[in-house]
This record gives sequence, C-alpha cells and structure tokens, in this order.
Amino acid sequence: MAEAEYRGIRGTNFFLHDQPLLAWLKRRKAPKDAVERLTAFGELCGGKLDELIGEAHKDEKLPRLERYDRWGGRIDEIRYCPEQLDARRLVLQSEVLLPTPLWERLVKAYLVNQCGEGGVTCPLAMTDGLARLLEEHGTPEQKKRWLPLVRDPKSPTPLTGGQFVTEKQGGSVVSENETRAVAQKDGTWRLTGLKWFCSNPGELWVTTAKPEGSDTVALFLVPRLKPDGSLNDCHILRLKDLCGTRGKATAEVEYTGAYAELVGRPSHGLAILMKVVIATSRMHVAAGSLGMMRRAMLEAGAYARTRRVMGRPAAELPEVKRSLARIEALWRGAQAAFFEMIRALEDEDPVAEVLVPLLKIGISRAATEAVREAQLVFAGNGILRDFSILPRLSQDALIQEIWEGTHAVLAGHVEKALRRKDSRRAFEALVGRLPDLEGLALCEAGYAALTRSLSASGRKEAKVL
Ligand SMILES: Cc1cc2nc3c(=O)[nH]c(=O)nc-3n(C[C@H](O)[C@H](O)[C@H](O)COP(=O)(O)OP(=O)(O)OC[C@H]3O[C@@H](n4cnc5c(N)ncnc54)[C@H](O)[C@@H]3O)c2cc1C
Repeated sequence: MAEAEYRGIRGTNFFLHDQPLLAWLKRRKAPKDAVERLTAFGELCGGKLDELIGEAHKDEKLPRLERYDRWGGRIDEIRYCPEQLDARRLVLQSEVLLPTPLWERLVKAYLVNQCGEGGVTCPLAMTDGLARLLEEHGTPEQKKRWLPLVRDPKSPTPLTGGQFVTEKQGGSVVSENETRAVAQKDGTWRLTGLKWFCSNPGELWVTTAKPEGSDTVALFLVPRLKPDGSLNDCHILRLKDLCGTRGKATAEVEYTGAYAELVGRPSHGLAILMKVVIATSRMHVAAGSLGMMRRAMLEAGAYARTRRVMGRPAAELPEVKRSLARIEALWRGAQAAFFEMIRALEDEDPVAEVLVPLLKIGISRAATEAVREAQLVFAGNGILRDFSILPRLSQDALIQEIWEGTHAVLAGHVEKALRRKDSRRAFEALVGRLPDLEGLALCEAGYAALTRSLSASGRKEAKVL
C-alpha cells in the first residue's frame, strides 16, 4: 500500500475542531456573534495566516534594519516583507484589541499562536497592553491622539505597540533602570539611555525611566515620530540575532533626548507597568504557549497517522501512543487552567493574582515539553525547518519561557500572592475542585513556587497539593 503523505494541518479551521474550547464556550453561553467571529478567525489562522507566516519566516524574508535614507539622513526603519505586514493587518482587523472583551481577545491569542509567534503575537500582546494602558491611565488627549494610531490597520507596522523596559545591566529588576527622564516646561519629557531588548519597534512604545533627581521608575510613551513629524531622538543601534520569534524585529534602542509623555503619576510607574502592561503580556504568554502546544499535538498526531513503521502507522506503536497521550494530557491540563484564569480575571477573584504568574510559568514550560515531545514523534523530520512548523515552534516556545519574566521571577510573584490570605484560600479551593488530570499543569507549575514559599515559612508540606 502506498504511504500516505504527511501534509500538516494547514487548511483546517483552528477553532471548529477544538472540542474542549467549544464545550467551554457552550457552558459559558458565549454570544452567537462572538462564536461566529471565532469561527472566521479560526479559518483565517488555519489557512491564509499560517501560509503568510510560513512564507515570512524564510531566511531571505526576515525583517531588516534600514538606518539611513539616500542622503544619509537617519530613518531607523524596520523593513518587513509584505507577507509579514499582511499577516499583522489581517489579525488587527479581526478585533483582537480592546474594547473586545478579555475572554475573546485571549481565545484569539490562543488561536493565532497556533501559527507560532509568527512575528505577530508578540506585537499583539504588547499592543493589547498599550491599548489597555491608554484606556486606563491615558489622559483624554493621549487617548484621542494615540488610540486611533494603535488600532490603525494601515499603520506602517500594524500591531505597532512596543514595551521597552529591559536594559543592558538586567531585565528582571526594573528598579535598577538607568535611563533618565528630564521634565520640560511644556509638560513633555526627554529621555536619555539605552534599552537592550526592544521587540517590535513600531510607531509607539511604552518605556521606563527615572525622572531626574529621583530613584523611582516612571512610565512614558515614546512615539517613533515627534509631534512635528520628524524622527524622534532615539536610534535603533542594531537588530538582535534571535534564535526564535524572528518574524518580528528585536532591537537595541538608544534614547538621545527622546520626546516622551508621562503616563500616570511618576511614583506609580512601576505599579502601573506591572498591573496593566506586563500582566497583559503574561496572559498572552499563557494563551500563546497553549496555542503552540495544540499545534504541536495536532501535527504530531497527523504525522504519526501517516508515517509507517514496520508496515503500520507509527501512531499504532505503544511508545508513540504514549508520546501523543502525554502531549494531549499536557495540553488539556493547561487549557483547563487557562479557562480558569480567564474566569478568575472576569470575576475579579483573588486567585487571579496567583494564576496569571503561575500559568505564565506552567504553560510556557509545558509548551516547551510538548513541542519537544512532538519533535521526537517526527524523529529526524522533526528538526527539518522545511518539513513542519515544529523547529520554529520549539524556538518560540523557549522564548515564551523568558520574556515578560523568567520562571524564578514569576515564582516570586506567585509566592507573594500566596502570602495574601484571600488569594491563598482561593487557590487552595481551586486546586481541590479540579479533577486530577485537568489540574496537572496547574499543580506542576505551582509546586516549585509553593515549595519555596513553604520552606521560607518553615513548613514542610504543601497543604494544597
Ligand atoms: C526574544 C526576546 C525579546 C524580548 N523583548 C523585550 C522587549 O520588547 N522589551 C523588554 O523590555 N524586554 C524584552 N526582552 C527581555 C526579557 O524581558 C528579559 O530577558 C527578561 O525579563 C529577563 O531579564 P534578563 O535577560 O536581563 O535576565 P536577568 O534579569 O539578568 O536574569 C539572570 C538570571 O537571574 C535570575 N533572576 C533574576 N531575578 C531573580 C529573582 N528575583 N529571583 C531569582 N532569580 C532571579 C533569572 O531567572 C535569570 O536566570 C526580550 C527577551 C527576549 C529573549
């Protein structure tokens, strides 16, 4: 019998066949029009978008930096290939930002990440955080001026938001930022300093700096262009040579007296950054890693059903069955926990304080494991970049574990939340409620943080586990 050929799952609707997701939407009585939007988005992600992103990740199509115009004037522009720009535009047009409700935005983030980061989903996370920041803390003037730009699909870089916080001396401890901000008579500010990891340097970004004479980190908006239309006083020094998430550029940016606008009070900068901007990105990391897991699971299943070993489909071998089952268990557990995180956020349940950092750790770690297991199912073909999406997913999944806070940093946040009585009680009740399999990802991820927390407090065993 002729061997069936593996073709991958491109061309399927990423939403319509996701049974646990459909059941969850049914349980929560999701409005019909939202389900229709998700159906259309699932079609887009599984078809056109996956194709565009695949094309945009060919080596010769990756973003490049154009520093000067023909007369030697600085322009500092990132040039993206048409496929990358189309992909971003299509996603932006699919109502992925506020005022679309949080649950729908996160489900869309989950669906679109099934194409990998793709140069799309990191910009999406950061632009979502920027929109939320403007909505919650922008002045009426800032909202009027910047929100249309943030939502404009015709922007030179659709999904244009960035978050430039990390500096050369370290990213985890933001209070050690060295970038300085000087207030101007007209109420604007000028920034001087160097930001070391700047993903998606588009039209507008959120950044951190210390006002002169103070040791407090304040939050600012920096546009690429000054209000008079000239290039702002910040330069892209170089693009990072990344191993993954290569469809979006990550750069080093130097502020040399850059025009900036303050957001919120200077003394509230760090708190707003963590509660609004970084918290939004962390939810996206959980959603994104979950999407990467599902893609890995589906590709591994599709491959194992077509690949023949000793005269029968690889999927029938007990070892391969075990691998596929392991990936599915990881995904189901993580997905159940993800739904719980959304519920907690919607209900303003104190357990959300634990779940957001916990799932940033747990799901991103599980995604790396799931993608690797899927690559092992493919064996040799699992590492070929032109054979399947898996090599790209494996690099993207690793980066999900790092950006927006490493596991160690996030474990500290989980610990802090667990020290609050209401969050801890809510978390204990939640773990008790979840069936074993579904709670797996949550428990595994929580274990390290809880153990640390308990050993610090002198107790030996985690009561909730
Ligand atoms: C592809 C990519 C894109 C990125 N894009 C951006 C971006 O757009 N904007 C931006 O601002 N940043 C960005 N980052 C930076 C990212 O957020 C940082 O890498 C991350 O926050 C960690 O900072 P660091 O790399 O300086 O590590 P460090 O802070 O130097 O950490 C070094 C080690 O110390 C550990 N550590 C640190 N603090 C603690 C603690 N309190 N307790 C225990 N252990 C600790 C860490 O876990 C790590 O193992 C990006 C990173 C990558 C990989």
